[in-house]
Amino acid sequence: MGSRNLPNQQSTAMTAERINPPILAERRAQVVEVVAGETTKLACERHSVAGAVSQRACVFCGSRVVLYPIADALHIVHGPVGCAVYTWDIRGSLSSGPELHRNSFSTDLRELDVVYGGEKKLRACLLELIAHYRPKAAFVYATCIVGIIGDDIGAVCRKVAEETGIPVLPVHSEGFKGTKKDGYRAACDALSRIIGTGDTGGILPHSINILGEFNLAGEAWIIRRYYERMGVQVVSTMTGDGRVDEIARAHGARLNVVQCSGSMTALAKRMEEEHGIPFRRVSYFGIEDMAKALYDVAEFFADAPAIMDRTRALVGEEVNALLPALEPLRRDLAGKKAAIYVGGAFKAFSLIKALRLLDMTVVLAGSQTGGPEDYERLREMCDPGTVLVDDANPVELSRFIVEKGVDLFVGGVKERPMAYKLGVAFCDHNHERKIALAGFAGMLNFAREVHLSVTSPVWRFAPRFEAMESGDRP
Ligand code: SF4
Repeated sequence: MGSRNLPNQQSTAMTAERINPPILAERRAQVVEVVAGETTKLACERHSVAGAVSQRACVFCGSRVVLYPIADALHIVHGPVGCAVYTWDIRGSLSSGPELHRNSFSTDLRELDVVYGGEKKLRACLLELIAHYRPKAAFVYATCIVGIIGDDIGAVCRKVAEETGIPVLPVHSEGFKGTKKDGYRAACDALSRIIGTGDTGGILPHSINILGEFNLAGEAWIIRRYYERMGVQVVSTMTGDGRVDEIARAHGARLNVVQCSGSMTALAKRMEEEHGIPFRRVSYFGIEDMAKALYDVAEFFADAPAIMDRTRALVGEEVNALLPALEPLRRDLAGKKAAIYVGGAFKAFSLIKALRLLDMTVVLAGSQTGGPEDYERLREMCDPGTVLVDDANPVELSRFIVEKGVDLFVGGVKERPMAYKLGVAFCDHNHERKIALAGFAGMLNFAREVHLSVTSPVWRFAPRFEAMESGDRP
C-alpha cells in the first residue's frame, strides 16, 4: 500500500470546498493520503511548527503522565502554579491503596523567584511535604521557567535525599526543550534510578513487569488478573497503580511486557542493557492484540507448557463470551466511518483492528508521537484514501473529519470539543475515560461506548459540520 502528500487545496466534498483551510507549508510532509502503489513516507519526529497550535502536550506533560500514577510518591512541580494545574489529576489513574499522586504540589514560582532563583523554595517545599506525607520517593519536575533561570534541581534533590533518606528524583522535563517524547525519556531516566535498588527475594522464575499501562480506569488490574490466571507473577506495573518498592525490585523479573511503546520502550531497552531483561511490545486493546499479548508471554515461558495451556483456555473462554455480545452492536455500526487521533501510534494499530471488528472503516489515523516504523506499518494497514497525520492541529483534523464524512472520532481530551462542535460522535481513549477499554472486557465496553455515541439521538440537535461551515472552527 502506498501514500501521497495531500495537495494544499485538495477537496473531495462540497462542504470542504467552502472551508478548505490550508495545511501549513512546513507541515505538508506530515500529512499523507494512502494511495495504492505510491510510497510517499510520512515525515515525523519533528518539533512542532510554531504557531501551528499542535495537539501535542509539552515535555513536562509527557513526564508527568508517565510518572503520575505512582501512588505512594510525592510529585512536585517546580514552576508556576499553572503548570501544576494543567496536569492536576491528569490521568485519574486508579490506586488500590494510597492516593498521594492525585495531589498536584507546586513550588508556585513567582517574579521574585525568577529573579533570585527558586532552589531555596524547592528545598523548603520538599522538606515540608516529605515530613508531612512520608512518601516512599519524590519526583521533582522541571518546567520551562526552571530551564530558563537555571535552577540546579539535581543538586537540591541530592541534598534533600541525604537529609530525608528517601529517593528524591529530578525529572528534567523543561517544557520547551523538545517534544512530548523527550518528556517520556526524562520520566524513564527517573524510573531507572529507582529500578535495581530493591530486594528481589520471592520473585518467581515466570515473572514479568507490565510497562506502559497506566490504570486509567482499572485496566492494569484486568491485565494483571489475566497474567495471574496464566500462572505468571507480576512483579511491578509501571506505572499504573504503581508503588515505589515494586519498581525498585523490577530488575528481578524475567520479562518486560511493554504497552504504550512510545513512553516505555526506552526504559525497556535500558533494562535489557543494564539488567539483561528482554522485552515484548504488546497492546491490550481489541481481541486480536489482547490475545497476542497473552500468547507472547506464554511463548516466552515455553519451559512451562502449563502456562500456554492456561492461556489457550483463558482466551477461548473470554472470546466465546465476547463475540455474541458484540454482534448486535456490529450490525448498527457496519459501514460507519471513524477517525483516530491518539498519543502513540501503537494504540492506533489496535484501534484500527478493533473498529474493523465492528465493521467500521477508518478514514483518518494519526498520532502525536509516532516514529517512521509506526507510520510505515500504519500505511500498510490502512485502506486507500485514508489520511495519515503526524502531530496534527485542530484545523487539519477538523478539515479531514468534514472531508471524509466521519461518524466517530476516537481521541483524547483535546479532541473531544472538536468532535462535539462538528456534531460527530466521540470516544475518549485517553486520560479522561472512566470505563476500562483494555482487555476482552474492555473491547465490549469500547464497542458499547462507540455504539452509544454513534447512534445517539443528540446528533439530530447538533447538525453535522455546521461549525466549520459557519467559519466558527473548533
Ligand atoms: S512546562 Fe512550559 S509548556 Fe509545559 S505547561 Fe509549563 S509553561 Fe507550559
